[in-house]
Amino acid sequence: MTKSVDVLIAGAGIIGAACAWELAKAGLRVAVVEENFPACGATGASMGHIVVMDDSEPQFALTHYSQTLWEELSPSFPQNVEYDRCGTIWVAADEEEFAEVRRKAAYYRERGVVAEILDSGALREAEPQLRAPLAGGLLVPGDSVVYPPAAAAFLLKKAAEAGATLHFGRAVKILARGSARLADGTVMSAGKLVNAAGRHAGAFSTGSTVKARKGHLVITDRYPGLVRHQLVELGYLKSAHSLTSDSVAFNLQPRRTGQILIGSSRQYDVEHDGVEPVILSRMLERAFAYMPALRSCSSIRVWTGFRPATPDKLPLIGPSLEDPSLYVAAGHEGLGITTSLGTAKLICAHITGTQAEIPKDPYLPSRQMTAKVHG
Ligand SMILES: Cc1cc2nc3c(=O)[nH]c(=O)nc-3n(C[C@H](O)[C@H](O)[C@H](O)COP(=O)(O)OP(=O)(O)OC[C@H]3O[C@@H](n4cnc5c(N)ncnc54)[C@H](O)[C@@H]3O)c2cc1C
Repeated sequence: MTKSVDVLIAGAGIIGAACAWELAKAGLRVAVVEENFPACGATGASMGHIVVMDDSEPQFALTHYSQTLWEELSPSFPQNVEYDRCGTIWVAADEEEFAEVRRKAAYYRERGVVAEILDSGALREAEPQLRAPLAGGLLVPGDSVVYPPAAAAFLLKKAAEAGATLHFGRAVKILARGSARLADGTVMSAGKLVNAAGRHAGAFSTGSTVKARKGHLVITDRYPGLVRHQLVELGYLKSAHSLTSDSVAFNLQPRRTGQILIGSSRQYDVEHDGVEPVILSRMLERAFAYMPALRSCSSIRVWTGFRPATPDKLPLIGPSLEDPSLYVAAGHEGLGITTSLGTAKLICAHITGTQAEIPKDPYLPSRQMTAKVHG
């Protein structure tokens, strides 16, 4: 049995890292235990788009709150976090999607988010490489981009400076009743436990459903200035909402390095992490259809990752159902980089019994139990 801490966190992805710093800042003795190395899961495979979303009020609250936290923190980032307040343009291909631009703009503005409607000409001026004609777009200038592995490393460094101890290359086998049993037989005791194991969270919180949702990404060589904003087709919303079929959508990101990150795909019930040529070519054809110039760009790497998804598309944040010492911080699907900082604030409020700045209830893991009882 090693020395006891106040809080032990299993998992050093962006969620575990953010929780570690927040809890250590609150004066708690924190330990982080990671099976492999930091950001080796979804965090290291992701795009790093910090984006305000409006699928539901709780999703808006958590993404908007978190986005303001990223912005507040940004002056302290080292260069390798590659923070870029490039903004998002939601691209409308036709009049139906342009109606969605107007709805989305009104929704954001009513809630204090700056959003600018671009007509067809203004969109072309903002992003000259997009195909013409397109109906228009919605510019959300406050959205940004980070390099997720460096962001997680930064949060862990801050956590360590605030007194947290970090244990990498050590798998947690059992996380329950105030202690963690590691694969090497070590038992670490803690007043509270945080399950931040991403898509593997179900192993420790059997009442929680987190499914893996595979995604592909491609990064190009350097083409500075070719793309200026994160560009997402409005049709993306249809594909992100589908809970069954495979889908692809035009989702493009300019990197500080001049590279272009091309996404994205979504697949359920795929276990293997290999690149799938059929999905990859569907995804790239979608991107070429929106930005023909991409066809002549060189790609330098293709990879896949697994988003930790819940059935109702909201993360699980709060006390677990089965064990009063155990808290869950998992299931953030395609928004976990964005919502990591808000998640950490909520977990800290739960553990310290303090008020949070946004309501905690919509994210409670207990809602999954209620959903099961009600069929
Ligand atoms: C292709 C793709 C694109 C994405 N794009 C974006 C985006 O643009 N913006 C955005 O906000 N989000 C994006 N996401 C989503 C985001 O990456 C995830 O929601 C987020 O990284 C989840 O973080 P996490 O810490 O919960 O999980 P992970 O990063 O998977 O971390 C979990 C950690 O727990 C560790 N672990 C698991 N089991 C154990 C154990 N038994 N013992 C110890 N450690 C354990 C794992 O090794 C891992 O390091 C994307 C994801 C993918 C796949």
